[in-house]
Amino acid sequence: MNFSTPVSQLPKVGPAYKKKLSSLGIKSLGDLLFCFPSRYEDFSRTFPISSASPRKKGTVRGVIREVASGRTPRKGIPYATLLLSDKTGNISAVWLNQSYLAKTFKKGEELSLSGEISYTKNGLQFINPSYEKKNTNVHTGKIVPFYSEKKGLSSRWLRFLLKSVFESGTLAFKETLPGQVIKENNLLSLKEALQKIHFPNTFEDIKRAQERFSFERIFLLQLLLLQKKIKLSEKKSTPIKIDIDKVQDLVSDLPYDLTSAQKKSAWQILKDMEKSMPMNRLLEGDVGSGKTVVAVIASLVAIRAGYQVAFMAPTEVLARQHFDEVAKLLWRFKVDVGLLTGKKDRFRSKKLKGDTVEISRQKLIEKTKEGKIDILIGTHTLIQEKVRFKDLALVILDEQHRFGVEQRAKLCLKERAAIPHLLSMTATPIPRTLALTLYGDLDLSVIDEMPKERKDIITKIITPGKRKKAYDFVRKEAEEGRQVFFICPRIEVEEGGKSSPWSGKKAVEEERERLAKEIFPDLKVEMLHGKMKQAEKERVMKSFKDRKADILVSTSVIEVGIDIRNASVMVIEGAEMFGLAQLHQLRGRVGRGEDQSYCFLFTDSRKEKTKKRLQALLSAKSGFELAEKDLLLRGPGDFFGKRQWGLPDFTMDALKDKIAVEKAREAAKKILSEDLDLKKNPLLRKRVSLLEKKIHLE
Ligand code: ADP
Ligand code: MG
Repeated sequence: MNFSTPVSQLPKVGPAYKKKLSSLGIKSLGDLLFCFPSRYEDFSRTFPISSASPRKKGTVRGVIREVASGRTPRKGIPYATLLLSDKTGNISAVWLNQSYLAKTFKKGEELSLSGEISYTKNGLQFINPSYEKKNTNVHTGKIVPFYSEKKGLSSRWLRFLLKSVFESGTLAFKETLPGQVIKENNLLSLKEALQKIHFPNTFEDIKRAQERFSFERIFLLQLLLLQKKIKLSEKKSTPIKIDIDKVQDLVSDLPYDLTSAQKKSAWQILKDMEKSMPMNRLLEGDVGSGKTVVAVIASLVAIRAGYQVAFMAPTEVLARQHFDEVAKLLWRFKVDVGLLTGKKDRFRSKKLKGDTVEISRQKLIEKTKEGKIDILIGTHTLIQEKVRFKDLALVILDEQHRFGVEQRAKLCLKERAAIPHLLSMTATPIPRTLALTLYGDLDLSVIDEMPKERKDIITKIITPGKRKKAYDFVRKEAEEGRQVFFICPRIEVEEGGKSSPWSGKKAVEEERERLAKEIFPDLKVEMLHGKMKQAEKERVMKSFKDRKADILVSTSVIEVGIDIRNASVMVIEGAEMFGLAQLHQLRGRVGRGEDQSYCFLFTDSRKEKTKKRLQALLSAKSGFELAEKDLLLRGPGDFFGKRQWGLPDFTMDALKDKIAVEKAREAAKKILSEDLDLKKNPLLRKRVSLLEKKIHLE
């Protein structure tokens, strides 16, 4: 037997079980072995029945005195029950919904029971305990694993099955990790680790096993990312000469001084672009830290050297904002800027002196192809088939997280041999450990300081009793001519007739209605949500930017980067439903202008834990600080879909462990330095390519 042996070849697995297993994705022995317990219970303490007491956990062993089955009086739930005795006393046990068990227990037989003792009206009792007739310590008397019990597969049955696999002794364990890596990092072998994760004797066993599997996952991911990085670095890109005079010209004309973090990041980027090796850099910085201008500097340099730039934003509103900003900053340099957005004829090209000319999409695409557009800004429309560049040397991706590499691939596959430099930007503050793990193929520049004159945003947690005061404050701000954002957790979603958990929350539409009619009948309230038509969204954004409305109600998902200088208050409904880093990002939408700005976190939650979590926002000033906190409080799952990375919980936990991540990274580097294509490690090579496929698919 090996890992690819079908489970149906196991003697215990008939057609019914085969079907159940396969519906859980378990087809081969390997699938089975890598279906890890979701929790463990410590039943290793065996005690005499007389010492049973409420809530005591552990194991008793005795002789069955009585067995019965029946139904509970009120709800009619079927059950099996028995009375067990040892030399010291008796105790009863009951199994709800499993009355068939009464048939398996025979009076006079020996039996072990493991569980937690409850105090019921029948006295001390085991409810649904784990049991075992022989004294083999699979289900009782030790640390017992529990599996997620779906599709009618009980933990008991899975333990039974796994035990038989291990005991058969015919299973070949193919070690994935090179012996050297195991040794140097003091890891368990695959066989030991699998044995210990399913049949641990101590909690240390579990920890050691999890360590090994976490290491393996992180190691494989590092192999993949580093391999990409090294391979990319061997490719050719266009070296772009830095025209320092032009950069200085641009910078000195800005209405503000660049922060030193901006200067440093810009310099790192320009230095990368100078090389003939493709840049692959992530620019991280809080909302409002001024990433755009850094991207504009890089663009100017590329354009001055005679090349084209593609600047991709996640939404049209953002693309349009970038277009305005770029055109404003670069018109003096006679740069031709194009804006290519979503649907029909709404494409413009801005030429010289800030004048905008509308041109047809076809024309714009033509001009781009002829090299007459220096910088083309747009949404994902940029990666369409039809769009071609003459001499693309720099690709900028704004607020795009992971997908940069693939998108660049799409953009440049159509191009010449040279690969454009890639600059991705994100306001998602990624703690260093995670950045290393998940973005190991990127170089990182961080803008970790806000423009000097930016005032701190006064942040308050608003409990129901303080709502009115907060609304009054909002009115006062609006009357003084400033604008206010209201964020709702999400728009009403109905699925299959059932409301999702979000639906109870104030949806944008309801909230707008309520605010406009009941709370602020004197103010103009607009709304924005994802289900609106693009043109409508833009109309609303524009009118808000032009100060035609006082309040904008919207969902959180849209327009992270939107820049409205006159907005001074950010109100977040259901604040407890957001991650800290996300709240911080939302808060960053205000406080761009000179006015003192405010952020109100509305919450109806009375939980102390929630309050504590939100309080972190009152003191923390950087997204990074909060991201680290989120990582500790909620785990990395909240940063990126867990599924996306296919990492089990305990690996996500391991990501918190900087040392483990560094070690896995070092080990991966070492292997690759001798064997870049993993030719000498075919098994690793296979695993890495599987991982790559998985990441691609999601
Ligand atoms: P983000 O990093 O969120 O993309 P933006 O680039 O949109 O931030 O910048 C936010 C605002 O800050 C813009 O209005 C921009 O003009 C302004 N800004 C950028 N850098 C500075 C600076 N060094 N000093 C003052 N304001 C700045
Ligand atoms: Mg931005």
